[in-house]
Amino acid sequence: MPKAQETLLEIDLKALKQNFEHLKSKLQKSTKFLAVVKAFAYGSDAEEIAKYLENLKVDYFAVAYANEGVALRKAGVTTPILVLHALAVNFDLIIENCLEPNLYNAKILNEFIAFASAENQTDYPVHIKFNTGLNRLGFSNNDVDSVISKVKETNAIRVTSLFSHLAASEDLHEKEFTLNQINSFKKIADNCTKLLGYKPMLHMCNTSGILNYPEAHFDMVRSGIGLYGFGNSEKESANLKPIASLKTVISQIHTIEKGESVGYNRAYTSNKFLKTATLPIGHADGIGRIYGNGKGFVTIHGKKAPIVGNVCMDMIMVNITDIDCKEGDEVIVFDANLNSAETLAESANTISYELITSISQRVKRIFI
Ligand SMILES: *Cc1c(COP(=O)(O)O)cnc(C)c1O
Repeated sequence: MPKAQETLLEIDLKALKQNFEHLKSKLQKSTKFLAVVKAFAYGSDAEEIAKYLENLKVDYFAVAYANEGVALRKAGVTTPILVLHALAVNFDLIIENCLEPNLYNAKILNEFIAFASAENQTDYPVHIKFNTGLNRLGFSNNDVDSVISKVKETNAIRVTSLFSHLAASEDLHEKEFTLNQINSFKKIADNCTKLLGYKPMLHMCNTSGILNYPEAHFDMVRSGIGLYGFGNSEKESANLKPIASLKTVISQIHTIEKGESVGYNRAYTSNKFLKTATLPIGHADGIGRIYGNGKGFVTIHGKKAPIVGNVCMDMIMVNITDIDCKEGDEVIVFDANLNSAETLAESANTISYELITSISQRVKRIFI
């Protein structure tokens, strides 16, 4: 790779393929794989990632919101796309783009049936979600009878899948709770299937579920973070490779004398001589203010350079007092090696999911 001369998010498609293959190796041959590409494929690039995975014969995609699915269709993606958080205002977009809604409560179920009927749809594919403990979206187990009778009254929709979501699949201290969720889901799915008279696909596992609960793989699994290179433990992460590296460059170097301040609000005042580098990346690029004032750091020539003072909208200043570097040198914010997004996220008490999905659309993406 040539050295970065501006802020770049490098996306390694070979790593994506390796992660996909590694996760698939954990599944039975017949288990389908749904790739979660919501939020720009976790801050990378949903269109490129989806097209690449489509070539690798992934079975399904999921997005959070309808407009994310529309973007994939515009890019030529033809694989089925589940919209995890369907909203009534988007039903026209959903049907126009052959997107498949998650129907999670009576209101959205009734409204979708009415909408699809008015559009003369028959057997329109939908997915029904049950809440088994996350208490976020989904019908309760008490709704089984009413949901299925509603579905059977109409030929506008057909239930492609029944699903649920685990609340703590990464946390083995919550194993009992998770096994309860799995059992409830099994019961709900059995009842629904009996009442329906046909067999929808069942799915429950996110990445950590895939790794920790093989008994809950059912007909399909839904993986996001694992595809992008993060597991739920050091051991699992070692088998995966982060696909994204965030790099930038030193724009300017300053020497700061004792008593001078650095940046907005004079948040840092030095009590000794300091050398700082100004970098062309700020909170508008996804490095939140939470990383400022010594919490977050970047790496220059293999050495840690902590952020000095407040994060600005378009820039940060980092401490390079002990680093032999010059203007124009490359800076690693995170990469697939020692400087992982997970470590940087931990420096500010957050998680890799948040850091990587925050990298804004201003940052140029390049694919390797
Ligand atoms: C985001 C999401 C996933 C993917 O979870 P990972 O932990 O990233 O694998 C799966 N299912 C649902 C319902 C989600 O919202």
